[in-house]
Amino acid sequence: MVSGPARRQYTTLEGAFLRDASRTRAAGIASTAMRTVDPLRLLALLLIGGGFIGWVLSRDPVSTTACSTGDPSCEVTVDPATTAAAEPPPTLAAADFCNDAGYLCAGLAEAEVVRLQRWKDHEGTVVVHVPPPEGLTGGDARALQRAAAQGVRAWNDQPFPILVDLRGDRDPDFAVRWGRYAGTRLGLTRTTWSPATGLRVDFIELGTFAPGGGNRAADPRQIRLTAAHEMGHALGLPHSDSPRDVMYPTNTATSMSAQDYRSVEVLYDLPDGTSITR
Ligand SMILES: [Zn+2]
Repeated sequence: MVSGPARRQYTTLEGAFLRDASRTRAAGIASTAMRTVDPLRLLALLLIGGGFIGWVLSRDPVSTTACSTGDPSCEVTVDPATTAAAEPPPTLAAADFCNDAGYLCAGLAEAEVVRLQRWKDHEGTVVVHVPPPEGLTGGDARALQRAAAQGVRAWNDQPFPILVDLRGDRDPDFAVRWGRYAGTRLGLTRTTWSPATGLRVDFIELGTFAPGGGNRAADPRQIRLTAAHEMGHALGLPHSDSPRDVMYPTNTATSMSAQDYRSVEVLYDLPDGTSITR
């Protein structure tokens, strides 16, 4: 798609260059003819010149010569990574930005600067593999797998369509895995970020068993909310400072909030790596 218009435009430029060259050549031929008075010779020169012009205009002007920087037809072929390196992400002042940014500025309570980190250049559906937990059987395992899938899907179309693969049939962008935690932890997300790649998700991990030890299965409602929380981190969201949001550090929300949706919307409206200062 991109190369089509670029090639046509370059072809046009090349054609214009050739027409200019042939006009110059034709002018030279005409001025030579003016110095000679023999009408037959003049006619012969005009016929030869006209034939040359016709040959130039009719030949396929496609060229394999690389276009140079500054040629408008080169602009569509610039590597996005090169563009990002040339234009560093912006820095925004909290006073200008934070009023309607959900909880993207919550981290400024502890830090002078927060940097927004999100998926970069991703197009299409995000595929997440959600397997059943090991160590549980039958209905318990299915209930937790279903709850985790619901939590991940809570972010469907925010901004990416999300496909949860329960059987592992597809090549996923990342997977949920199951773990056993001491204490009250219910889940964690591991990500990596660099300016070149944006945010990458290594995995989301959810706790199979209820806090407090033993082999009792975790509460599916807690797993659904935890999976939604961890999926928010996987998309790049920070913690919220409001207990009503799913991104609050403990499971106090009952569902996704308007603030959750607003935060991810603003996050993906801004360039990856945008900084916000106090
Ligand atoms: Zn968290």
